[in-house]
Amino acid sequence: MFLKEIQMENFKSFGRKISVPFLQGYTSITGPNGSGKSNIADAILFVLGPKSAKAIRAGKLTDLIWNGGKDKNAADSCQVSLIFDNSDRQIPVEADEVKLTRYVGLSPSVEGGYNSYFYINDRKSSLSEFDSLLAHARISAEGYNLVQQGDIQRIVSMSSVERRRILDNIAGITKFDDDINQAEGKRKETEENLDRIRQRASGRRPKRTSIGSESSSTRSTSRSNNSSRTGMAR
Ligand code: ATP
Ligand code: MG
Repeated sequence: MFLKEIQMENFKSFGRKISVPFLQGYTSITGPNGSGKSNIADAILFVLGPKSAKAIRAGKLTDLIWNGGKDKNAADSCQVSLIFDNSDRQIPVEADEVKLTRYVGLSPSVEGGYNSYFYINDRKSSLSEFDSLLAHARISAEGYNLVQQGDIQRIVSMSSVERRRILDNIAGITKFDDDINQAEGKRKETEENLDRIRQRASGRRPKRTSIGSESSSTRSTSRSNNSSRTGMAR
């Protein structure tokens, strides 16, 4: 599986239909500052990370729609398609090519509102179906699959502990650390529950003894009463 092509329409600085082909191997995109290189990475994140915490550089989704620049009318929707070569069927779709599309359009009825749609090979899909397909194909915009501008500088200047955390994350160790922490939390909770049970049990035991001794003394009293009664009768 590999990304063959990105198709964008009215996405950020690309105020028209534009396609960026990727060949197998290494592709580099060059251009002057502000020409839209990072916007291409944003386009990938826009499609692959509908639930990703990794921020697209935009205040809100509708900021991703082409704003018309200085002298043209802004568009009212944008869309990005990622076309994957799927001849190895890593994406669970029975097709050699898989096109994943996301569309965002302004909603005319609600001020500031928008509609967001997802398509798998041009067939409309729900967010959960789209998300589950990405998960099954192990495609994610999380972590460091996508290294954005400034990421390297941030990694170089961070503390060694933070950097270690990133390496652990890439190596997949963080997942195990999370599991360990979760198990540790559960163990603590269980121990606290056990402590509470022990405290209640030990709080009850002396009571039972005292009830036991009370009842035996009651028995002996009643016996002595009986005997005294018997004695009286005698
Ligand atoms: P650099 O080399 O400085 O990193 P870059 O090639 O990565 O630059 P980008 O950050 O991708 O450039 O693009 C920035 C440009 O995108 C800006 O000129 C900005 O005005 C434009 N832009 C961002 N959002 C929109 C939008 N919604 N409509 C039109 N243009 C937009
Ligand atoms: Mg950039």
